[in-house]
Amino acid sequence: MTEEIYRLAILGSGPAGLTAALYSARANLAPVLIEGGEPGGQLTITTEVENYPGFEHGIQGPEMMEVFRRQAARFGTKFITGVATAAALKKRPIEITLDEGKVLRTHALIISTGASAKLLGLPAEKHLMGYGVSACATCDGAFFKDRNVIVVGGGDTAMEEALFLTRFSPKVSVVHRRDQLRASKIMQERARANPRIGFVWNSAVEDIHGDQKGGVVAVTLRNLETGESSRMPTDAVFVAIGHQPNTGIFRGQLEMDELDYLKVKPGSTFTNIDGVFAAGDVADRVYRQAVTAAGTGCMAALDAERWLEAHHL
Ligand SMILES: Cc1cc2nc3c(=O)[nH]c(=O)nc-3n(C[C@H](O)[C@H](O)[C@H](O)COP(=O)(O)OP(=O)(O)OC[C@H]3O[C@@H](n4cnc5c(N)ncnc54)[C@H](O)[C@@H]3O)c2cc1C
Repeated sequence: MTEEIYRLAILGSGPAGLTAALYSARANLAPVLIEGGEPGGQLTITTEVENYPGFEHGIQGPEMMEVFRRQAARFGTKFITGVATAAALKKRPIEITLDEGKVLRTHALIISTGASAKLLGLPAEKHLMGYGVSACATCDGAFFKDRNVIVVGGGDTAMEEALFLTRFSPKVSVVHRRDQLRASKIMQERARANPRIGFVWNSAVEDIHGDQKGGVVAVTLRNLETGESSRMPTDAVFVAIGHQPNTGIFRGQLEMDELDYLKVKPGSTFTNIDGVFAAGDVADRVYRQAVTAAGTGCMAALDAERWLEAHHL
């Protein structure tokens, strides 16, 4: 018996992957979607999502992704539980190895493996994610109007997040491990010139205090020079220490930028390898929102559909 060759495989089950699945399933491509280690993607680790169009009163992240999944399933998407551990993208058909050793073969591939927000690794951070801890100021800043917040980090992302948060918060404290910022000069100048932003130097967040009912109330900071710990009251913690695009298995095959985001041809989802498309945060270091991920997921499905047709596959 010959192994099945899929017309289209999709890696990742966040907004980008599930939108690509919806469009390609409705175009009768019978896509197969590999869900990865985080079924539903990054929105499953947050609570309220208020900025996704169509949900006037907001919706919980996990619930929203369940709706996305059901919509993609309705038109015949085949879901596979598993993680891709290797990819031979130049082979024809393309070969994707899954964690339990199975090899999946496909003519076209959409990569929508996301860019995971880097976190501090504290148990309290995980427990309070969506309850006062966040990794996205654009997403969650508006929940903290007139409240004091801290931003952890010292790069451009941290400065951007801090500046954005001053629209809502009277006091934004940037907690940084060193005594100087890594951010570009222009971003540093903007942040330092903003009277709502203060800096806590040479310090690391050791613990976050609060509960899922009342939210965050304080953090424990450790001064890395003196070793002393102190408690600092705050209403929210925004972790802004960067993102890691999930592109490790494509290294050496697909073109990436210096931060490991996949490169696509401008205005499209085409990568440098024929038949391989990229959608969502994995190819977007700028916007990283659910709606933009879904938008490029749609683009990838249309690009793949036309590519398959042009190649009579
Ligand atoms: C705490 C938090 C709150 C947020 N709140 C909002 C918000 O309110 N509004 C908003 O618009 N955006 C929000 N965002 C951003 C939003 O979550 C992302 O922009 C969006 O999820 C990106 O979608 P994506 O499909 O590109 O990737 P992701 O959602 O990151 O999904 C990636 C998928 O790829 C899979 N995967 C990874 N590696 C592999 C592999 N090797 N094999 C197979 N599968 C793999 C994962 O399992 C996952 O299913 C938030 C982000 C965070 C972290």
